Amino acid sequence: MIDFQLTDKQRQLKDALEGLGRHVVRPQSLAWDRDHTVSEAFLRQFMGMARAFAGEGSAERFLGTGEEPGAGHGADRGAPRGKPSQANRTAAVGAEALAWCDAALLLAMPGPGLGGPPVRSTGTPEQRQRFFGIFKDMSQELRWGAYGLTEPGAGSDVAAIRTTCVKDGDAWVLNGRKCYITNGARAAWTVIFATVDHRLGRAGHRAFVVEKGTPGFSVGKIEDKMGLRASETAELVLEDCRVPEANLLGGADAHASKEGFMTAMKTFDTTRPLVGAMACGIGRAAYEHARYFVRERYLLSRPIPRYAALAERLARVGRRLEAARALVHHAVYLADLEQQNAKEASMAKAYAGQAAVHACTEAIDLCGAHGTLAGSDQLLEKWFRDIKVFDIFEGTGNIQRVVIAKRIVSGLKAF
Ligand SMILES: Cc1cc2nc3c(=O)[nH]c(=O)nc-3n(C[C@H](O)[C@H](O)[C@H](O)COP(=O)(O)OP(=O)(O)OC[C@H]3O[C@@H](n4cnc5c(N)ncnc54)[C@H](O)[C@@H]3O)c2cc1C
Repeated sequence: MIDFQLTDKQRQLKDALEGLGRHVVRPQSLAWDRDHTVSEAFLRQFMGMARAFAGEGSAERFLGTGEEPGAGHGADRGAPRGKPSQANRTAAVGAEALAWCDAALLLAMPGPGLGGPPVRSTGTPEQRQRFFGIFKDMSQELRWGAYGLTEPGAGSDVAAIRTTCVKDGDAWVLNGRKCYITNGARAAWTVIFATVDHRLGRAGHRAFVVEKGTPGFSVGKIEDKMGLRASETAELVLEDCRVPEANLLGGADAHASKEGFMTAMKTFDTTRPLVGAMACGIGRAAYEHARYFVRERYLLSRPIPRYAALAERLARVGRRLEAARALVHHAVYLADLEQQNAKEASMAKAYAGQAAVHACTEAIDLCGAHGTLAGSDQLLEKWFRDIKVFDIFEGTGNIQRVVIAKRIVSGLKAF
């Protein structure tokens, strides 16, 4: 039975992040958006504040820097013994709260990012220790990980990747081009998906951890985007890039079992609910803004029927966001139980993306001309720009609906 009650630690994490969001993050959001970056000094300061207010374990778990899903301790400290981990749920609570503050800041936070789940799920113990080890102490240097799957000719159609990997002695030689990679230019390592033979489709996929500075591995252009402008999105180029055999994710066993494609997909089972949680955070921010505006502006000064029509629209936004959050919590609940959750992860992401786009669009509309203003105290237009990509990256809404339909139909019994 899903328990929607947050633990004390999760409530503390949410309150701490939203408190920081209101007083420290949001006042700077538009400047970061304009400058296309969040300064390292602020990231360092923010991590320190998050640890201080939310507790060491919760912050670590939320940032995903631990080698194991349950590596942190603080978040579940309040949970009775014998209960399953709530690592994914804590991450969802943190993701919603931080996206409520500023989603670009969330994506810019140091840590393994999207690169974490494949290393965690497929990496050998030595690889997990080696690649997560660099995040343990970032007092001198901030570090990021990244995930490189998308290519100019392979976005939704993941099986079509053309980046090649050819074994040569004790190394693999990679050639190809990856695009739209979050934190790709700054990452200390990136999980790169390549194919031994594109005619094999999914069976040909292999995953490698490619470290920054490896000869033949370079950064192409940095994208200028409509939203999430303070989050870095980079192109990565691999030209005769020799990657040591030790960096083939999962080692020889994974190579033999042709697990590369599954590694890519397993990542999404963990991360799609979190993307849904982030969408809920942005949608809720816009919803709260519009609710305040409507209440202040209309409640006392306009005839009741007009206010009632606006209230009904607000209520529809609120209902959809709550339904989205319930889907997110169902998906992370299954993930914490280590149960199959691909369908629920897709449902959470597809529904939350649309619910949040609807929330931001309605919020602007409900605020009228005020909703379109851009300025230091007006973040609504930024949330409107930020939200669209949540229905695109990590599998578009359309692709989620294809996945859901396939899972539902394949689960039907013949009669
Ligand atoms: C800000 C940002 C950050 C990103 N970060 C990363 C990252 O870190 N790592 C990474 O690997 N990628 C990343 N991406 C890439 C992202 O995952 C892809 O953009 C996404 O998968 C869609 O691929 P595409 O852009 O090639 O669109 P396409 O696949 O070309 O899709 C175009 C349209 O066709 C529709 N469509 C395609 N196929 C079908 C189908 N079978 N049925 C129905 N409709 C379909 C899609 O829904 C969409 O509407 C990022 C993208 C952005 C914008």
